[in-house]
Amino acid sequence: MTFDELGLSEKVLAAVKAAGYVNPTPIQAQAIPPALQGRDILGIAQTGTGKTAAFTLPMLSRLEQGRARARVPRTLILEPTRELAAQVEESFAKYGVNHKLNVALLIGGVSFGDQEAKIMRGADVLIATPGRLLDFFDRGKLLLTGIEILVIDEADRMLDMGFIPDIERVCKLVPFTRQTLFFSATMPPEITRLTEAFLHNPVRIEVARAATTASTIRQALVASHGHADKRETLRNLIRDAENLKNAIIFCNRKRDVAILHRSLQKHGFSAGALHGDMDQLARMASLDAFKNGDVNLLVCSDVAARGLDIPDVSHVYNFDVPTHSEDYVHRIGRTGRAGRSGVALTIVTEDDMKYVDQIQSLIGKAIDWEGPGFDALPPPMETTRPHEHRRGGRGERGSRRERGGERATRRPERGERVERRTERVEQVEAEGPVAMGRPAHSPRRPDAEPARSRPVDDRRDRRSRRHHEDDGPPVIGLGDHVPSFLLRPVVLRPAKVAEE
Ligand code: AMP
Repeated sequence: MTFDELGLSEKVLAAVKAAGYVNPTPIQAQAIPPALQGRDILGIAQTGTGKTAAFTLPMLSRLEQGRARARVPRTLILEPTRELAAQVEESFAKYGVNHKLNVALLIGGVSFGDQEAKIMRGADVLIATPGRLLDFFDRGKLLLTGIEILVIDEADRMLDMGFIPDIERVCKLVPFTRQTLFFSATMPPEITRLTEAFLHNPVRIEVARAATTASTIRQALVASHGHADKRETLRNLIRDAENLKNAIIFCNRKRDVAILHRSLQKHGFSAGALHGDMDQLARMASLDAFKNGDVNLLVCSDVAARGLDIPDVSHVYNFDVPTHSEDYVHRIGRTGRAGRSGVALTIVTEDDMKYVDQIQSLIGKAIDWEGPGFDALPPPMETTRPHEHRRGGRGERGSRRERGGERATRRPERGERVERRTERVEQVEAEGPVAMGRPAHSPRRPDAEPARSRPVDDRRDRRSRRHHEDDGPPVIGLGDHVPSFLLRPVVLRPAKVAEE
């Protein structure tokens, strides 16, 4: 199928050709014709499927008739994060080169004045995050009575971020007769309820299950001990990587993004960071530096990275195993796009195994192990550092002991661990055709270097370890932990956390 068959206007087709697209993606092929007819769309699609163009192109075609009036935008696109909103604005610039449309962006962290001026001029397209939109509306600076098309993008992310009440409010403020284009990667019950309440006889299009991982991605698991060891494991993986052009490194917690970012910089890596505690300017700067190749590593949290279009990533590293298996699929989907090859490596500690099992169940296959297995790793850092033992009952070991964990009081014997693991592999194999256990001992790669000796300054990593591993109150000190307010430039108006 070609774009010419979809019913798009000449101006839009010319822009699509100029963008270098030859064939529509499945979501575009299925969504564009009914969207042009004015039908509501329920698109179940994740980022990377071409869904932005699936709603942008028919909108542009339909906007060719009519004009915007001051303070009464004609179309509204709701995005969960500022970066996604800015990305959609870029899409309108790209696909709308042949149109003279007024596109306004309403996002937190940007001055009210400029945004207001654009709305006063009459916006054909208003792209907004829900909080800032309702702020404007409540100040009487904007009317929603002229909305012809409403787009709700990344609805499941909106749910995660607590925006559903805002979305419901917006849906009630826009005219009943508008067209609604609704996109979500997954359909939890709250989202289904929303679509039942606010979509009118939608065309349902489902393009890719979240469980699908591209066959062009080489996936592997890499064993490691606790946090400080994981940092060294990561550094070694990056140093040993073949054809590493650029990499995204995922952490589960915002705080760990900042810590790992600092640690990588300290070790001489060219790294940026993206997490929800950074203000808008710092986030945009990080993203641009990564896209331009000024830094080739980007440390991210899931929310900060969700939906961002960062083409051409050669490697993805999961510094932490994601606790929601679908996040694994989203994360590694950052590489191996559009038929290119990519590498996705996940650093795993023994405590993470239950999440690894869930991921393997979701994707329906076992992920190979790479490098030494848990048994063959050098001992964890705490057992090799004499002063770690001197910490006594007040340290991490003491507190674990207080919690009564088996692992806190002794390391299990080698034979015992092998036996437990074998049992588990057998159990999983008995349940289905896919072997989802891990090898009792993964042999070291024949070409692997011997374990590197730890640089002296790594001790700083360890000092703040307790703090990294728990999500408890921050430890304020001059260790590796740097409070996030020191990592970002001072801004007069703090960014709205809710819109992250
Ligand atoms: P999205 O899922 O909207 O974030 O789009 C993912 C990427 O695919 C973006 O970089 C788009 O520029 C690109 N893209 C969208 N549609 C097409 C197409 N028909 N052919 C090739 N690339 C496309």
